[in-house]
Amino acid sequence: MSGKLYLVPTPIGNLGDISRRMADTMAGADFLAAEDTRVTVKLLNHLGLKKPMVSYHRHNCSTAGPAIVDRLLAGESCALVTDAGTPAISDPGEDLVALCAQQDIPVEAVPGPCALICALSVSGLPTARFTFEGFLPQNKKNRRSHLDSLKGEQRTMVFYEAPHKLEDTLEDFVAVFGGERRIALCRELTKLHEEVVRTTVGQALADCATRPPRGEYVLVVEGAPEAPAQEADPQAALERVAQLRGEGLSLKEACAKAGEEFGIKKRQLYDMSLGK
Ligand code: SAM
Repeated sequence: MSGKLYLVPTPIGNLGDISRRMADTMAGADFLAAEDTRVTVKLLNHLGLKKPMVSYHRHNCSTAGPAIVDRLLAGESCALVTDAGTPAISDPGEDLVALCAQQDIPVEAVPGPCALICALSVSGLPTARFTFEGFLPQNKKNRRSHLDSLKGEQRTMVFYEAPHKLEDTLEDFVAVFGGERRIALCRELTKLHEEVVRTTVGQALADCATRPPRGEYVLVVEGAPEAPAQEADPQAALERVAQLRGEGLSLKEACAKAGEEFGIKKRQLYDMSLGK
């Protein structure tokens, strides 16, 4: 019988965010797969744990992934951890989970710190519907064309961004979304210099000149406004009333139905039908 892959989140800055379940899961796993073993060893030291570790990161995942899967198929259990946050969110953990899914290896996620959710929840922008865009393409042309595809996006959009690219990204936001679009710049979450700046995209860009960006950022951008409702067309509504009358509806019923369809008050349509 195969073992299990555990996805174990780690703090995004504040060690106080380690949960008992995170620690117990790491302690109980046969081995850890770590993005950077030097970072993870510090966490293990903090918890007083010693565990065998293998490296699993962007540059070795094509070979390290299958090797981890072989060990899981042989019955071992593995806890996947990254440098910070929830594995498989904007990191190669997603490939390992996909490999396990292909092989019917059970995967269990321990909930915990995630910069995306932390930023979205504190942004002050609508959270009911959102799209996570992760890191934008590095190449300017690709970044712009990706952003162009989001021009009409009405859901709140969440981006990860490095400080040295922030100004360029904000420039593109202004060009695509307009300077008045609201944005929350969530910086150094859970850390000493945690800061949430709720402003407009244009103002955020202007601020870069006086305050060079520093630290880790999540950008939460307001979605596009809803497309304006179709202009009410009284003539078309009257034609619809006549059609409904022909189908046997009373004038009152026809006005109510056509009024609803065309966004015109039924009383107004009734009066118009009577030539008032
Ligand atoms: N898997 C991680 C998670 O669950 O959030 C994200 C990994 S991704 C490689 C790293 C990016 O997450 C950073 O570049 C930054 O955009 C964001 N991030 C991580 N920690 C953060 C923090 N404390 N404050 C703000 N953003 C953070």
